[in-house]
Amino acid sequence: MQFHDSMISLVGNTPLLRLRSVTSGIQATVLAKVEYFNPGGSVKDRIALRMIEAAERSGELRPGGTIVEPTSGNTGVGLAIVAQQKGYKCVFVCPDKVSTDKINVLRAYGAEVVVCPTAVDPDHPDSYYNVSDRLVRETPDAWKPDQYSNPNNPRSHYETTGPELWEQTDGRITHFVAGIGTGGTISGTGRFLKEISADRASGPVRIVGADPEGSVYSGGSGRPYLVEGVGEDFWPTAYDRTVTDDIIGVSDKDSFQMTRRLAKEEGLLVGGSCGMAVVAALKAAEGLGPDDVVVVLLPDSGRGYLSKIFNDEWMNDYGFLEHGGGATVGDVLR
Ligand code: PMP
Repeated sequence: MQFHDSMISLVGNTPLLRLRSVTSGIQATVLAKVEYFNPGGSVKDRIALRMIEAAERSGELRPGGTIVEPTSGNTGVGLAIVAQQKGYKCVFVCPDKVSTDKINVLRAYGAEVVVCPTAVDPDHPDSYYNVSDRLVRETPDAWKPDQYSNPNNPRSHYETTGPELWEQTDGRITHFVAGIGTGGTISGTGRFLKEISADRASGPVRIVGADPEGSVYSGGSGRPYLVEGVGEDFWPTAYDRTVTDDIIGVSDKDSFQMTRRLAKEEGLLVGGSCGMAVVAALKAAEGLGPDDVVVVLLPDSGRGYLSKIFNDEWMNDYGFLEHGGGATVGDVLR
């Protein structure tokens, strides 16, 4: 009989898919690492599993303990599944701007979700940061993974995503492209690929970051953008700036239009940061030859964005449809 004993053993080993349509005019092979095949539907299952296992080993997370993390998204889902399977409780803290669908997903897996007001200062006692710190202090056997500073975030990619890509491409990968949120994916995967290819005749793998225009990674000041899960207004310690050779800034409009094309033309219903990463990958691939192999990592599925990126009205409000006029991001956010 062939079966898995727990969802945990389904984390990682995601497939590579060649992009055949959006790549027209490009000579290089462009391959997508499709992370929605993870059991929680995103790349974050990898870090959830390894952060929890490392905390079990170090004694920070004790049997029956409680995981407390300020997250509303993919990391929460990954942590909730692994915690449930291993017998831990989860409490997630998220701001009230988060959609009820996302909150309901976390609750469906058995997690508790504490919703905090968005319209207060970060130092206000009810702010999302302060509430999560207070919960950690007040809950017995609480542990906070803190994906932004936890070394097991990049390490999980050094130990899994990187080796998978090297093996899947038979050591022929020449460029790795990924969005930067916490920086864990690009730092861990990038460092592994650079080290293993250091002495290769064709040179080491080039590591290319994709970033929403406005975020600090591509030289912005943190001004608003709508792509979720990537870009920051500070520099997290999970991000190792020495690993990236190049960072390409991508607009919301280009990111979302590409996200729609991936669904329509490649059969890939993925999130907005995936469209962003593919735009950057195609820019990186311009001018490369037929021997080059560009791998772009697609973090999550498009299911969480049906009322935004895949909704004409929402896209049109922002002027993101080809012929739509619409307001600017600033106008709509005001
Ligand atoms: N895309 C999405 C949808 C994400 O949730 C994340 C994680 N924040 C990323 C991209 C970026 O990954 P990382 O945090 O490893 O840089």
